[in-house]
Amino acid sequence: MTVMPTCKLCGKSFDTIAELYLHLRSECNKIPRSRKCPICNARFKSIRFMRLHLINEALIDAKHMNYIISI
Ligand SMILES: [Zn+2]
Ligand SMILES: [Zn+2]
Repeated sequence: MTVMPTCKLCGKSFDTIAELYLHLRSECNKIPRSRKCPICNARFKSIRFMRLHLINEALIDAKHMNYIISI
């Protein structure tokens, strides 16, 4: 049995983690439209920066990872 990386926000599954990251960066419309990170409360200049923060942090931080990705 193989476990597919899944976007926790919209429930979509992907073949590879790279595809999931691409999805989060470009097309997932369930990422919170906020300038404040819902996990660490960091504030950003724009919604776009917050989105990038969430995705980048997920690579290195388990809390951000658990919020947007399930593997
Ligand atoms: Zn999604
Ligand atoms: Zn954060």
